[in-house]
Amino acid sequence: MNRISHWVNNKVVAGTSGKSGKVFNPATGKQESEVDLANIADVDAAVASAKAAFPAWRATNLSRRAEIMFRMRELVDANRKEIANLLTLEHGKVPSDALGEVARGLENIEFACGVPAMLKGGYSEQASTGVDVYSIRQPLGVVTGITPFNFPAMVPMWMFANAIMCGNTFILKPSEKDPSASMFVADLLRQAGLPDGVYNVVHGDKVAVDRLLDHPDIAAVSFVGSTPIAKYVYETGTKNGKRVQALGGAKNHMLVLPDADLDMAADAAISAAYGSAGERCMAVSVVLAVDSIADDLVNKIKSKVPNIKVGAGSDPASEMGPLISREHRDKVAGYVTGAAKEGAKVVLDGTDKAKDEGFFLNPSLIDHVKPGMKCYDEEIFGPVLTVMRVKSYDEGLKAINDNQFGNGTAIFTRDGGVARQFQYDVNVGMVGINVPIPVPVSYYSFGGWKASLFGDQHMYGPEGINFYTRGKVVTSRWPDPRTSTVDLGFPHSR
Ligand code: NAD
Repeated sequence: MNRISHWVNNKVVAGTSGKSGKVFNPATGKQESEVDLANIADVDAAVASAKAAFPAWRATNLSRRAEIMFRMRELVDANRKEIANLLTLEHGKVPSDALGEVARGLENIEFACGVPAMLKGGYSEQASTGVDVYSIRQPLGVVTGITPFNFPAMVPMWMFANAIMCGNTFILKPSEKDPSASMFVADLLRQAGLPDGVYNVVHGDKVAVDRLLDHPDIAAVSFVGSTPIAKYVYETGTKNGKRVQALGGAKNHMLVLPDADLDMAADAAISAAYGSAGERCMAVSVVLAVDSIADDLVNKIKSKVPNIKVGAGSDPASEMGPLISREHRDKVAGYVTGAAKEGAKVVLDGTDKAKDEGFFLNPSLIDHVKPGMKCYDEEIFGPVLTVMRVKSYDEGLKAINDNQFGNGTAIFTRDGGVARQFQYDVNVGMVGINVPIPVPVSYYSFGGWKASLFGDQHMYGPEGINFYTRGKVVTSRWPDPRTSTVDLGFPHSR
């Protein structure tokens, strides 16, 4: 059986816990690998290596850091297919989707090559006579990233590229469900010339996460995953004095107004709901259809969904792959079965596919959902699109703003004035106007509101740089005997 171990000091290091997790190929349902699950000693060894590497890495000049990150950019670019293959094997996403993930991750590495321009401070000459004041940003030390199963390559790239370029050393705790991509990327960083100990990978479960949250040498924690764990990580990490950004789950609504291009809206809803088998935190999971066009829109979606080719990523014709695990597939199927019992109308029931080998479901479409139904209130994270009918823009907006989550949302309309009002009114962090999955480009920042994010800094982009650095302001005077006096008053400008 293939064994996946930790990555410390630029090499593979076997775990000492004697505990391992199973890694499956979701398309066959068969176990392919075992992954070491770290104990406290394994985590401590990685932290010690990152701590030892920090002083020299921090002192490494910005040009040299950028040179390494640029080389990393070239290596990821040259290895897109290899990384995507690992994603397909362990996550199950089809190759086009896996390549898209790599491309969006690569964007963050490209942004990070330019971090030196973001680290420029401010400078005020002659703030007082003979006194200059300037600001600088410095790295935090050892920082960690804890990541979910659904983007095993991209989400770590959201974090480590900027963290490292800012002069920190980094420990990744990837999802134990699909850990291989993180090891492949770690070796690319080594090939790019990153010194030993600057980037480390520790595999594990709650034991590893708890140690990272507890470890006195970890300065900051970036987390992406489900809301209950995000809240736990935020509360525990901050209680222990760490800086934490913790991104959680989602329930993304797409509001379709009567004047929208309904064919475009139907295509967008289908792509955004069923792409990656709905296992995206920015997936559209609820369409809010204004009554006058709701039947029409549901019929358009219903007629197109059966054309989606569901199958293994190894088949080039497949457009939607399996779910991550048997348990998760069964949980998702339970929402569809439960919806009928709660009075919603199951227009397309994809649960029969659960009989196949592998962790597959077909796409499901559920109409007439309402708050109070489990399929509406909870994040499903599977290929299930629900439709809630609303009387008006105001009722649609209220549904979005009443929801506990606030990750992404979209409005479909031809009316620029209404779209502008929507962007003003809606309590959600990322908004699409006729764009169903508005994941910001790497030079903006990614993050939701409400139960979709705990902390005050969004991920990557300018807020990522803020998160991974802290500011220092220097007030300086050079000796000038002409201006030297004794003055016991509080310093003020003269
Ligand atoms: P998860 O919360 O189960 O796991 C995320 C990470 O936390 C993993 O590394 C896991 O090992 C660790 N973890 C799990 N249980 C833990 C516990 N009890 N204590 C400490 N650590 C624990 O999430 P997942 O199932 O891997 O990913 C899917 C979730 O992630 C969905 O809710 C999705 O919406 C969310 N997500 C959010 C974003 C975003 O940007 N907001 C992006 C991607 C995924």
